[in-house]
Amino acid sequence: MTVIGAHLSSSKGYLNMGRTAISIGANTFQFFTRNPRGGKAKELNLEDIHAFQEYAAAHGIPLVLAHAPYTLNAAAKEGRTREFAWETMADDIRRMEALPGQLYNFHPGSHVGQGVETAIGLIADCIDQAVIPGQTTTILLETMAGKGSEVGGRFEELRAILDRVKYPEYMGVCLDTCHVYDAGYDIRDHLDEVLEEFDRVIGLSRLKAIHLNDSQNPMGSHKDRHAKIGEGTIGFDALLRVLSHPRLCHLPFYLETPCDDAGHGEEIRKLKEALHGI
Ligand code: FE
Ligand code: FE
Ligand code: ZN
Repeated sequence: MTVIGAHLSSSKGYLNMGRTAISIGANTFQFFTRNPRGGKAKELNLEDIHAFQEYAAAHGIPLVLAHAPYTLNAAAKEGRTREFAWETMADDIRRMEALPGQLYNFHPGSHVGQGVETAIGLIADCIDQAVIPGQTTTILLETMAGKGSEVGGRFEELRAILDRVKYPEYMGVCLDTCHVYDAGYDIRDHLDEVLEEFDRVIGLSRLKAIHLNDSQNPMGSHKDRHAKIGEGTIGFDALLRVLSHPRLCHLPFYLETPCDDAGHGEEIRKLKEALHGI
């Protein structure tokens, strides 16, 4: 059973997102924990969470993926900006624990001229300060396109972060197809080799989720501009190979393509239809 969904607006709460997911043919979803530019999160609504848990059990939503604001920079130069990153992450994790056992994804950060090595240490420190011992939430590092001074464009950088954190057992990786392609990994024509490299450097057991996006730019462009499924440089067939790959097909997949909910529903329908044809 393929677990696939899309990024949804979180403004109306968990139950509403669950209903939207089911209405577009999805059985999971991703959402921002708060305004993607940062800022305060809404009050936790335990009633909504309980209603969602019942709905998810009844409709077969096995898990969901929360995404941290993308403006956080755990590797910032200024102490205050780093403090903001770990405070936000700590608050997000605390809130996620109200819905146990989910995934929490974040962008490792940008080294802003300090160098990758320094950044890796700062990112690991940030995670260590945010973690709650005994937490049930899995923290995911997202593979990045390597735009500007972004950390996480190479598998080795993510591995180095995983090696530095105090609680690696709470950690995993989310592979974004647009990002890795833009970073220079040829998932279009050499998927098996890329997965072998991921396995050698990080370990495929660390891979917990996939962001399934096409890219507007060529391989190695370091741009990070998502395209609709089949309308980019990766293409429909290559993305279908990711979705159906025996080493990946058990993972949850999330579309972050430039579509509204109905558009995501259409993409999910086409992908599922093609999957059945394999
Ligand atoms: Fe992301
Ligand atoms: Fe992504
Ligand atoms: Zn992106």
